[in-house]
Formats: sequence, C-alpha cells, structure tokens
Amino acid sequence: MSLVGPIWRTKRDKEVRRGAAGAGYRTLSKVTLRLFDTASRSAREFEPVARGKASVYLCGATVQGAPHLGHLRSAVCFDILVRWLEASGSQVTYCRNVTDIDDKILAAATAEGTPWWELAERNYREFASAYALLGCRLPDVEPRATGHIPDMIALIERLTASGHAYAAGGDVYFDVRTAGDYGALSGRRPEDMLVPAPDSLAPDNTVPDNTVPDNTGEDPGHTAYKRDPRDFALWKGAKPGEPAWRTPWGPGRPGWHIECSAMAAGYLGPEFDIHGGGQDLIFPHHENERAQSVAAGDRFARYWVHHGLVTTAGTKMSKTTGNVLAAADALYRSRPQELRYYLSQAHYRSPVEYTQEALEDAAAAYRRVERFVTRAQSTLGSAASPPETPLEALAESPPRLPLSFAAALDDDLSVPAALAALHATVRDGNYALGTGDHEDAATCLAQARAMLAVLGLDPLAPAWQAGDPSGRLHGVVDALVALALRQREAARARGDYASADSIRDTLEATGVIVEDTSEGPRWELAR
Ligand SMILES: [Zn+2]
Repeated sequence: MSLVGPIWRTKRDKEVRRGAAGAGYRTLSKVTLRLFDTASRSAREFEPVARGKASVYLCGATVQGAPHLGHLRSAVCFDILVRWLEASGSQVTYCRNVTDIDDKILAAATAEGTPWWELAERNYREFASAYALLGCRLPDVEPRATGHIPDMIALIERLTASGHAYAAGGDVYFDVRTAGDYGALSGRRPEDMLVPAPDSLAPDNTVPDNTVPDNTGEDPGHTAYKRDPRDFALWKGAKPGEPAWRTPWGPGRPGWHIECSAMAAGYLGPEFDIHGGGQDLIFPHHENERAQSVAAGDRFARYWVHHGLVTTAGTKMSKTTGNVLAAADALYRSRPQELRYYLSQAHYRSPVEYTQEALEDAAAAYRRVERFVTRAQSTLGSAASPPETPLEALAESPPRLPLSFAAALDDDLSVPAALAALHATVRDGNYALGTGDHEDAATCLAQARAMLAVLGLDPLAPAWQAGDPSGRLHGVVDALVALALRQREAARARGDYASADSIRDTLEATGVIVEDTSEGPRWELAR
C-alpha cells in the first residue's frame, strides 16, 4: 500500500495544500470506513444499524491481576477506532465491560487472603489509571458483571425456555447442537473445538494453562453433565465459600460468556454495530457469545473486530510463560505518549513484538513529530492554532485532513499508512519553518495536530499535561530560560564568547537544549 502523503514543494503543491485548488483534502462528513470482519473474513463497508451512530462493545479486563502491555494495546486500538468514527461524524456509544467475577479472581483472592471484591476493585483501578495515562477516551458505559446478574439470569431463562440450554448438576449449559452455525465466527471444525487452540487464551488475555481440559474454562469435574463435549456453562453451581446468587436452578454464578452477551445487549440493544476484542477471544469466548445471543433471538454484532496480540520473542505475553511487561513498568520506562505511539504504530490486526529497542525507536519517531509541533507552535505563536484541539472540535468544525491520512484510516484503520502521511506533513512543516514560509508551516501544523488528535497523540493535548496540570511550572521554566538566553545574547554581543558558551553549557547540563535559529535561540528539554 502506498498512501504516503505528497511532498509539498512547488507553488502548485502549496495551493493544493491550502485548498485553493479544491483538491488534496477530505473534509469529514460521513463515515466511509471499511472494517475487517472476522465473521465474514473480509473487509466490509461500515453500515451501522442507525445512520450517523455507531455502537461499540469491547471485551474489557478480567481484573484478576494488574494490567500488562497486551491490555494496553487493546485499549489503544479501540480508542483509535472510536476516535476515527467520532472524527468522521458518528455519534458513538462505546461500552467496555469489566469482568469482576471469575475463577481466576477467586483463586488469586484466596491465594493472597484478600476478599475477592477487594482484589477485583484494586486491579480495576490499576486498569483505569493506565488507560487514563495513555489518553484513552472513557467508555460511555463500563458495566461490571456483578452488577448485571439479573440480566444474565433472564437471558439464560430465554435459552432454557427455547430449548437451547439445559440445567444439569447445579449448572446450566448451552446446547451447541441446537445452534445451527456454531463455529461460523471462528471458522473452526467441530473436532477442533475440544482442545485449546494455540491462539486461544484465557479470560485475562493470557495463554491458558494447558491443564484446562477443554476450551470453555470450566470445572473438569462438571463436564460429565454435558450432552456434547462442546457445550459450555452459562451458569455455574455454587461451591462452598464462593460468592453465589439465587436462580431458578439453585445458587451459583455466571459463566464468562453469558456476561458479555447480557451486557452488550443491555446497553447497545439486541443488534449493535461492532464487537471487539483480542484475537485470543475469537474462540471460545466470542463464538459462544454469538451462539447464545443468536439462539436467544438477538441479531447481536454486525462486525466482529479483533486486534493482534503483543508478543515477546515470538511468544504471546502471558503470565504463564512469565514474559509479561506490566503496564506500570512500561509506563515507568516511557512517557505515556511515547508508549501510546508504540502501541498504535502497527496495524491493529498485526502482532506487536515487544522489544526495548522497538519502543525506543517509536519514542524517537514520536519526538520528531512532537519537536515539530512545539517548534512550530512557538515560532508561529498562538495565532497558529489553538493550544488545545479536542476531538469534539474536530467533529464540529472539521479541519482538512490530508486525503492520504483519511484514506488510510478508512482502509481498515491502517495506522501505519496514516503515520506515513503524518510524517510527510511534519517533514514539509520543518522545511517550511526552515525557509521562513510561515503560512505553509501554519497549514502543516494545523494538519499535523488534526491528524494527531485523531490518533490521540497531539503533543499539546491536556492528556499529556498530567505532570503539570496548570502549566505553571512550564511558565516559570520558560521565563528562567529566556532570562539566561538574553544574558547569553548580551555576552555574545559584547564579544564575551567564553561567558556565552558557559551559559549554554550550564543550560545543557540541566537538560535544556538550545538551538540557534534564524529567528533567535529556541530551547527544549532534552529527552
Ligand atoms: Zn467478553
């Protein structure tokens, strides 16, 4: 694919960039997105249930432990999808659930002697804080499984009443033989559904224990009650000491799959637009969700969108193999915006192989963009563009995004091609600044910031000012550095180059890099 933005060098090019020729831009007005749909194994034109709207359900965290890099990628991939839908004029309802009751949560709580709800709450907060640090838009609703038990029971009742589910041994199972196209989403043959596939991960997005006897994550002792080995538990009978809710089939707790079916339909309706998650969730989780919801009479998701996983040394990041990079460690090693750039830059369906070198390369690429934006902003002054470009402003008065950028994101959310368009604009902008063409530089700055806002990476966005929310510290440093630079200029003017160099060296020693430009010295903090 070659969607790299053009290099703007000639007068004609500039006219096109500025819109004088009426070409080269796309003003966003309607969604023209094509998305790869796992169920149909093809990229399909996005046609929402309701015109002008988009409903998105993302399988969120199972809060049995702290988040790792794989969880962060999931949040970032879907954040970009939601931002693009919104920037394209869609009114998005974004629902991301929290699985706060699960075998692994109970096991982890028992192991550390903590109440299960306390462990779940603690981990949930870590997830929420990591998502916020990465500048992810909050979901419109973040339902918790434990808050929706009556909805799950009602859904199971519909399934038992229609003969798609049966109670046995205190559990309730879904009868897969009654679902005509069971396996259609994942494309698996019946015989391949009995063992965990190499790419089938557990609810926490990690590789499952190989001791799990089947792909439903159920208690092996209960499999004797199944009519078909592929049947999966909708409801699990209570075990001593475990939390339980009362139902017509006795006390117990929900299976993982029924949670998402009930919450998705509860908030987005029986038919909604996009259901997302990691590729590890295609089977069994999403296959089972789809089977039970369709059997209950819901049309369920129109598009199934799955992102690739984060790997290290070619192996999926997982607690089982011990190759996890915790979100907290990743955020300690990198600035959040650099980590976000790193997690964004591959196509969402490709795996991301984590290495420290790759992270540093991504950080360097982001800093090039950031340097242009801050340099252009300070050179051109506040008239160049507003200091903040919230995403809502994009939708209200859409800036002209380069066609190559819009086309890239419309093409199944191709962030690599979109970044190529961004970097081309940054190169042009730097060239314009270097030649003193402020008009062209201002256009490049506005375009770059518009593209960065769509990606959630605008360096001037409030999301990245967390360390200095009021901006006061920046103002103080700015004034002090300006004072030192004036003294340096004065020293040079009187021919005292030793003092001038000494001032510069002192600034550099404190992490302030000074660059002499045709418009006088400018500074930035060393990274
Ligand atoms: Zn789910």
